[in-house]
Amino acid sequence: MKILHRMITLSLAVLLLIGCATAPNPTPTTIRPPATTAPLAAATPEEPTQAPPTQPAPTFAQPTSLPPTTPMIECSSPASLTPAATEGPYYTANAPERASLLEPGMPGTVLTLTGYVLTADCQPVANALLDFWQADSQGVYDNAGYTLRGRQYTDANGRYQLETVVPGLYPGRTEHIHVKVQAPGGPILTTQLFFPEVVSNDSDGIFDPALLVQIQENGDHVLGTFNFILTTQ
Ligand code: FE
Repeated sequence: MKILHRMITLSLAVLLLIGCATAPNPTPTTIRPPATTAPLAAATPEEPTQAPPTQPAPTFAQPTSLPPTTPMIECSSPASLTPAATEGPYYTANAPERASLLEPGMPGTVLTLTGYVLTADCQPVANALLDFWQADSQGVYDNAGYTLRGRQYTDANGRYQLETVVPGLYPGRTEHIHVKVQAPGGPILTTQLFFPEVVSNDSDGIFDPALLVQIQENGDHVLGTFNFILTTQ
């Protein structure tokens, strides 16, 4: 009996030893990073370095992000409202929305007209509608299509920019560009813009010096500025 008991005890001990040798290791495995991983603390030379506190980061606010033709806002409150002028017989509704009226092969002197739509207290009017129409460089209107006709809206700063040609003369009229301007929800101002030092300004009954564009010649390209002052209600 004693022998049997010893044999059982020995067998149990052997089984226990085998079990310990084959059982999974309960100790968690340590995962080492790959040998190729670069040390995190090492900064590469391409990394941007922080600007010193005395040197402010460059800003992209207006007016530096605008093209060089952007005029300064010349307005002293209360500003005089832009006067109206007759619409004339050649307005066509629903002109395409576009800032450039130039087309390939279009004759004439290129004119870039820029400015702001402002309230009488010199606040810019965003999303104001400007609907331009004009004669070509020979003084002829396109009354069948939309040549030299286009609508656009002021940007968030109340600014507009029109690319076109200097209009020609036609009988009885000096050089002029027609435009309708409307602040969101406001009344429509119908008026015309004129150009300085045009001889026929003096003989044009519609001419108004308050509607003169400020002109800057740049080679064969004319830069003009005009700010519209509107009532918004
Ligand atoms: Fe006209």
